[in-house]
Amino acid sequence: MGLTRREFIKLCMSSAAGASLLTMLGPELEETLALAADGKPPVLWIQGASCTGCSISLLNSVEPGIAKVILDVISLRYHPNIMAGAGHLCAEVLEETATKYKDQFLLVVEGGIPTKDKGIYCIIAEKDGKELTMLQAVSTLGNAAAAVIAAGQCASFGGIPGAAPNPTGVVGVNKVVTKKPVINISLCPMHPDHFLGTVIYILMYGQIPELDKFGRPKMFYPEPIHDDCWRRQYFDVGKFAQYAGDEGCLALLGCKGFVAMADCNKRGWNNNVNWCVRAGAPCMACSEPTFPDESAPFYGLYPLTNKAGVAYPPVVPQKVEFVTPLEKKAL
Ligand code: SF4
Ligand code: SF4
Repeated sequence: MGLTRREFIKLCMSSAAGASLLTMLGPELEETLALAADGKPPVLWIQGASCTGCSISLLNSVEPGIAKVILDVISLRYHPNIMAGAGHLCAEVLEETATKYKDQFLLVVEGGIPTKDKGIYCIIAEKDGKELTMLQAVSTLGNAAAAVIAAGQCASFGGIPGAAPNPTGVVGVNKVVTKKPVINISLCPMHPDHFLGTVIYILMYGQIPELDKFGRPKMFYPEPIHDDCWRRQYFDVGKFAQYAGDEGCLALLGCKGFVAMADCNKRGWNNNVNWCVRAGAPCMACSEPTFPDESAPFYGLYPLTNKAGVAYPPVVPQKVEFVTPLEKKAL
């Protein structure tokens, strides 16, 4: 293995400058894949309260493509959307893998975990007439795994299913799994590079990457988006968009880039074709544990102080009428 951990992290961070993760990791990744071919780590992927968007996000991965990931990088034993089988035979795979590969397999959790009324609001399988709740599955499998990857905002912090008033008591994985490391890949949906970079790091170094205080890999959540935003020059000269589609910083339209720790500003989405703020949509800070309740309203002026009483955005707010360019034209 040619890359030191420091070099790996540097390459992952520089892959945010437009080149794909695979291109940046290049021959070293190929070498890792070859080494891993013999003893691919079994991966179980289970889904709870979610929209399946994080699976779709991973399927959209361009480099490395999803076929390469599934065929060469990992041994995916269970995934509700892409496995061919169904029913109790698949449910048995969960149990078998957890027993045979105790403390070796990776558990990927997509979606939040309903905990109210013993988790009865989310049943993910049935065996011998007995229902398996998401709560039981995450608790049993998570504590038997080598590590757990919470794929996306819902699995990390509860996300949209856990929004107030949260009738089913949805929580993130680390409220249920207490004995094993939990890695939060928290965007909504998760970024495929963040997931794959984390898995490849674990494969290469046999340990989890350094995490921040919210359990996210530091290499992918380095600083607030606002610090190096594509529209930052407008913010610095005080030019603010008044309407969706206007030129200018999106602070007065509700942008939360001040608090969003993520690298969307550099990595982009869909193979860096675009990303929220560049496309004209205010950042909703979907990277944060405070999403979605404290990010609301997503559009338009948002509360002028946070919970600590600190004012943001640090500009004099104006009354902004939220009108789209089309509506503006019709006026
Ligand atoms: S407020 Fe939002 S749009 Fe404006 S510079 Fe900061 S992150 Fe960019
Ligand atoms: S720019 Fe903001 S809202 Fe968009 S994906 Fe990144 S953190 Fe989430």
